Amino acid sequence: MSNKYIPAEIEAKWQAAWEEQGLHKTVEDPDRPKWYALTMLPYPSGDLHTGHWYAYTPSDASARFKRMHGYNVFFPIGFDAFGLPAENAAIKNGAHPMKWTLANIERMRGQLRRMGAMWAWDAEAVSCDPEYYKWSQWFFRKFYDAGLAYREYAPVDWCPNCNTTLAREQVWGDDRHCERCGTPVIKKNLEQWKFRITQYADELLDGLETIDWPERVKVMQTHWIGRSSGAEVSFKTEHGDALVIFTTRPDTLWGATFMVLAPEHPLVDKVTTSEFRSAVEAYKGEASRMDEIQRGAADKEKTGVFTGGFARNPVNGEQIPIWIADYVMMGYGTGAIMAVPGHDARDFAFAKKYGLEIRRVITGPAGATGVLEEAYDSKQEGALINSGQFDGTPVAGAATKVTEWLEAHELGHGAVNYRLRDWLISRQRMWGTPIPIIYCPACGTVPVPYADLPVRLPDDAEFRPTGESPLKFHAGFRYVKCPQCGGDAERETDTMDTFMCSSWYQYAYISPYWKQGRPLSVDDMPWDSGKGGYWLPVDQYTGGIEHATMHLLYTRFFTKALRDLGVVNFDEPMLRLFNQGMILGPDGEKMSKSRGNVINPDEFVDKYGADTVRGYLMFIGPWDMGGPWDMNAIEGVYRFLHRVWSVVADDPQMANPTLDPQVTADTTEVRALERKLHQTILKVTDALENFRFNTAIAGLMELNNQLIKVRESPVVNTSVWNQAIRELILMMAPIFPHIADELWHRQGNTSSVHLQHWPEADPNKAREAEITVVVQINGKVRDKLIVAPGTPGADLEQQALALEAVGKWTAGKPVQRVIVVPDKLVNIVIG
Ligand SMILES: [Zn+2]
Ligand SMILES: [Zn+2]
Repeated sequence: MSNKYIPAEIEAKWQAAWEEQGLHKTVEDPDRPKWYALTMLPYPSGDLHTGHWYAYTPSDASARFKRMHGYNVFFPIGFDAFGLPAENAAIKNGAHPMKWTLANIERMRGQLRRMGAMWAWDAEAVSCDPEYYKWSQWFFRKFYDAGLAYREYAPVDWCPNCNTTLAREQVWGDDRHCERCGTPVIKKNLEQWKFRITQYADELLDGLETIDWPERVKVMQTHWIGRSSGAEVSFKTEHGDALVIFTTRPDTLWGATFMVLAPEHPLVDKVTTSEFRSAVEAYKGEASRMDEIQRGAADKEKTGVFTGGFARNPVNGEQIPIWIADYVMMGYGTGAIMAVPGHDARDFAFAKKYGLEIRRVITGPAGATGVLEEAYDSKQEGALINSGQFDGTPVAGAATKVTEWLEAHELGHGAVNYRLRDWLISRQRMWGTPIPIIYCPACGTVPVPYADLPVRLPDDAEFRPTGESPLKFHAGFRYVKCPQCGGDAERETDTMDTFMCSSWYQYAYISPYWKQGRPLSVDDMPWDSGKGGYWLPVDQYTGGIEHATMHLLYTRFFTKALRDLGVVNFDEPMLRLFNQGMILGPDGEKMSKSRGNVINPDEFVDKYGADTVRGYLMFIGPWDMGGPWDMNAIEGVYRFLHRVWSVVADDPQMANPTLDPQVTADTTEVRALERKLHQTILKVTDALENFRFNTAIAGLMELNNQLIKVRESPVVNTSVWNQAIRELILMMAPIFPHIADELWHRQGNTSSVHLQHWPEADPNKAREAEITVVVQINGKVRDKLIVAPGTPGADLEQQALALEAVGKWTAGKPVQRVIVVPDKLVNIVIG
């Protein structure tokens, strides 16, 4: 055995040994608490980059830490293998995307193994495998049967670069660009499949209260779902048509001085008078050439035109003018608003611009009733005026009172509006899960029978992008017999959004490729229920925050839908979530090929070993903060491991096994080491529980420094030294798994360090050595004692009475009483 630390040697050796021992295989064990630790699965791009290392190795350390606390830990990995890059590579290379994908997966498996993580490889699942996606199709069918999947002709967001529709969640930023490629998104009218996620809007909001997720994810989801309460109120046009508006401020109904419709609103043509028709048509034409991006932009000046029509305000019978304006959109609310310029900033600006009436219906905080210089939108201070029978009603609570009154008079009703829209899942790309639907001229839309799943992707499809689904050009795929009438029919040729695959991958790991090769039925369970009952739901999830309103919302919806279908019996897929930060290039910028600042982790693993790269990534700062790669700091971690190696591998007790350690050598140095050890256990335990890996490593470094300080002294002959060495190795195991197992075995142990129990701290031993106890005479401080914490009261009394100062004060006077508060004070009462 070499006595030098050579990471390449020991890391390869231990990775092979763990695999051979089946150390990371997980079997249900009812006698142990389970811990399902999940990290977001990679896309098989072909290279595991630093971001993967930054996401995965701390997750692994956390999972290992749990295992050392007696948990039966499941830490699986797989591949989110459908999607555009494979398709684009296929177009470029003229090879099927499956080939590219499988080659990349093979390469990345090797890279993942080099991390030394406790991956449960026997649970691996790859979403482009037909035995995986047959379940995605099974879920689609279940959703279809339950009315949760439906097809709709509607304007959708389209990325002209990716040649496909996008879900609303995939359209980012005020400029509305494609989340994947950054291209501005345009609108297209298409018939598309959607999932009814809006049916779960309330539950998705309320459920946030029940899970331990980062506050900012909860805020982002809450904002995305965008629940607002108010009332729907029906105005009437001069033709007698109902113009329904949604307002969050029914208490300002008396202040409505005009209405605004979206240019596409179906009643626009009818309300427009001949005098205004040409202006309205021109405005509508202009609006249709703009997308919602431009129309909704906050800094765009609000424009609009009068239609010539009027509507009757139901609360006071007033006829108010109807305008159209492009900032009102059909996709939001009802596509019509009442404008209350006195109490809404946007309406105020619009009224000012077009000379429309601004009416005050709420007094200012001090009862002000004067002309408004700006919109007054407080819901707390003021009272209603110019509002009929509601005059004098305090604005706080007025919305509820007005709503009740509207309901009593059948003029409107309380309503809730959401920003959330149904999840659009159709994609016009080839490399995805086929949507299991057949269109028959005689029977209409026919779902593929359960027993016929999977609908397989052809392996000879044309995949050039045309804006239409490539599967449309594959006759063998497209033309089928109708499963109902046997007549000629056609398959749906769109594929599913890949977020469908990742909405349930945490369940796929439970029994990968469940029921392989066997026909499915409606009554199936998509995984082994016994295993699912044991492992689910996920206890700890880790991954990036960029998924806050996409994957992290979809998988919650998916789980709630599965619960209603009787597949799971819980409400939330992941009980805890931690979002890591982003690892940046050495220049502090996001790593990118074009900037030339990409760090290749493999290079550093070759040079320093996986343990150093793991430890370095965890040492750069709090895990949720991320930070730039630092060439010098990685050397520091490497040196630390060499120092630990030298302390443990050159342990004099190991060099001389006949040496008999003294059980207690009660010297200051020994007690100092013991104290440091227990303080370190407390610190590292707390740090690892809270994902503060940097703090944990700092603690390990300090303990090691202390060991180096005393390694030439008699302390090495004590049992405390032995314990410190042993527990330092144990505490290193989650972060530095290879060197820890090597040193553990060199200490003469035969079973893996990773199967040991985490060390326990004795808080008494961790306490600082000396504390100050105040000595009082008749309640006045006269002296002090420096003692060990926990010194018994009798000892304190004795020591206090022996003090010189006390002797001076008590000279000749009898001591009546001595009051002792251990660790605090001794009060001597004299007569
Ligand atoms: Zn795009
Ligand atoms: Zn048919």
